[in-house]
Amino acid sequence: MTLDEIAKMIRSCDKCPLSKERTQAVPGDGNPKSRVVFIGEAPGFWEDKEGIPFVGRGGKLLTKKLESIGILRKDVFITNIAKCRPPDNRRPTKEEVALCTPYLNAQLETLAPEIIVPLGATSGEFIFKKYGLTWTGMLKENGVEKRINTIFGEVKIIPVIHPAAVLRNPHRTDMFVDALKKLI
Ligand code: SF4
Repeated sequence: MTLDEIAKMIRSCDKCPLSKERTQAVPGDGNPKSRVVFIGEAPGFWEDKEGIPFVGRGGKLLTKKLESIGILRKDVFITNIAKCRPPDNRRPTKEEVALCTPYLNAQLETLAPEIIVPLGATSGEFIFKKYGLTWTGMLKENGVEKRINTIFGEVKIIPVIHPAAVLRNPHRTDMFVDALKKLI
């Protein structure tokens, strides 16, 4: 399946209750040949409006800090665990995640990335569990590389603190950038 075919399925999906409150689904965005895939939790207010992941303040910070280390946003691929915005930006429920993640799995199989970057604790915990790793907490796992074998080959997992958490805690900017530097 191509990324466009997966995105088309996501945009017309009504498998879970999030379909009823969304403006639009947010399948993912970026370079289909990227060696790096960023995975957040779920779309927020601006992502729901624009249909593109990480376009709010947190996304702008991520884009700016990636550029500061020589990585252009257009050269990576960014998506979320859940493809539709949960009301009031709550966490997606286990049921919603279970219904939605076949799309993420399909995207990963198509992209076959060398590096997966879970952004934030929810994504980190989910990705670690998916690949049989033990999650010890965002601050401990930030920037720490793990290697796993997948059906598309060996992959590095490098969790990075969520940019929205950095906006709330500016003293964590250096640890955010240091973790991003592990990608280069
Ligand atoms: S969150 Fe996922 S499963 Fe739920 S409606 Fe959106 S695309 Fe479908």
